[in-house]
Amino acid sequence: MVLVNSIAKGIVIDHVSAGRGIKIINHLGIDKAEYTVAFIMNASSNKYGKKDIIKIENEIDVDLAALGLIDPQATVNIIESHVITRKINLKLPEKVVNIITCKNPRCVTSVEKNAPQIFRLVDKENREYQCEYCDDIVDVKGE
Ligand SMILES: [Zn+2]
Repeated sequence: MVLVNSIAKGIVIDHVSAGRGIKIINHLGIDKAEYTVAFIMNASSNKYGKKDIIKIENEIDVDLAALGLIDPQATVNIIESHVITRKINLKLPEKVVNIITCKNPRCVTSVEKNAPQIFRLVDKENREYQCEYCDDIVDVKGE
């Protein structure tokens, strides 16, 4: 694997769909990080043509559900002493809390600002989630 050994301890997010890497960086808030972050765009991938790769030289907490929502095709590799100790294949989460927002103005979550935003996966193919309260459907293809 390319350049992974450049990281002693941290996280490598690999096989990110080309163009989604920046969304993951924004989500993780690592654009302002003080530790080393390497962001590779449009690397060649045998599997998917082009991919983005993010290498983070730090142990940070990543929300796997949120990452899976951004890019279910990506993998998260945990690196310790230059070696991958754990590999996690992301997937679309079955249930998401406070990540997607319901757009229905009549939904209780639009009125009650403290109500948690709870959605359940109803269509994996089309990446559609349904609001727990009002049954509105949101697709997360563009998220
Ligand atoms: Zn709703």
